[in-house]
Amino acid sequence: MELENIRVRVTESIKKRKRDGKSPGGKYVSLGYRRLTDEKGESYLAINDKEAKIIRNIYDSYISGMNVIEIARDLNEKNYKTRTNSKFVESSIIRILKNPIYIGKIKLYETDENKRSKRLKLIDGLHKPIISIDIWNNVQAMMNENKIVKRNHENYLFSGKIICYKCGAKMYGVWSGSGKNKRLYYRCHNSYRVKSCNSAAIRVDVVDNILIESLTLLINSSMFMESLNANLVKEVQRYRTKNLNIDTLQVELQSLEKRRQYLTEQFQSGIIEETMFVNSKKLFTERFNYLLNQLKSINNSDYLLNQKTITLIKKDVDIFVNKLSMILHNSKNNIEYKSEVINELVEFIQLDKTGEPRFNIQITQNLFNKMLNNGKNDMYDNLAFTFIINKKK
Ligand SMILES: [Zn+2]
Repeated sequence: MELENIRVRVTESIKKRKRDGKSPGGKYVSLGYRRLTDEKGESYLAINDKEAKIIRNIYDSYISGMNVIEIARDLNEKNYKTRTNSKFVESSIIRILKNPIYIGKIKLYETDENKRSKRLKLIDGLHKPIISIDIWNNVQAMMNENKIVKRNHENYLFSGKIICYKCGAKMYGVWSGSGKNKRLYYRCHNSYRVKSCNSAAIRVDVVDNILIESLTLLINSSMFMESLNANLVKEVQRYRTKNLNIDTLQVELQSLEKRRQYLTEQFQSGIIEETMFVNSKKLFTERFNYLLNQLKSINNSDYLLNQKTITLIKKDVDIFVNKLSMILHNSKNNIEYKSEVINELVEFIQLDKTGEPRFNIQITQNLFNKMLNNGKNDMYDNLAFTFIINKKK
């Protein structure tokens, strides 16, 4: 009974604080604010300028067409952290976009006397807002709409991949127009709210087909195959050399030499007996010679690739390219898989003034192994490289 009374009293006092527009107290303060204490000892919320910038950035990014996953990725790249000092994820962004504290409101669940259910009320808080009502309303409307039209790469394959030809910012897929004229566009991140760029938006339905066609042509070109082959050969060579651990061998050789000297000194000062000295020295010398031979064999081009390995690499490249083309070309293919592949394969696309795309492609080990029949191939353990190919050439 006693405990229940305390609980009710605490809940009532929190509700009273909220009705008065005060933050509920407690340890947790939303990102963008910090709790201070006034001269009467009352705590209140003040804006934390550094964090408020992150909050505004999140709202602006969402309005400019970035989806919550892209926003989280962007913030993590900038090394920003959540209130609990962790990385941003989809749900943390959604929570921030839905939190009315940023328009100066406080959430209060009041029990409806007639219906006996809880009702959400927004109380005017005593704290200052970080986000304007206009932006807030805009974001809430967009979020409701996105529940109907699933807002992800299924609708625009190259969102966040196309570079604005005017300012170099990323372009994101965004709905524009109304009614029957409502269409998806790629729009420069800087052209939406900041308006520091006036590049035209590009229609997704037009450009996606052209990009897929160009990408397929590019992947099947002999130039792409040759580049990929050459890069793979280089990568495997680098991987092998690295794994043979020349440095480690040299370090061990040096330490062996030192121990051999130490052993001799100990023998000369009469600390160890002759038999022990001879036996230990023999072991050291054997190990020393073994390591030396290994080091020599590495230097003697043992790590250079032989014809057999290169043939295997070419086979892998063939499989890789065939599978990629199949996924890109075949419209019946699972669109989610297609967008996943494009997301991993294409680092960015630059369009010149005539609209000719220049692809910057990055083939990751992950993507490469996914395409191969035999799954994981540890020969390409460190495979990740970038090359720029201009379709025009
Ligand atoms: Zn721009």
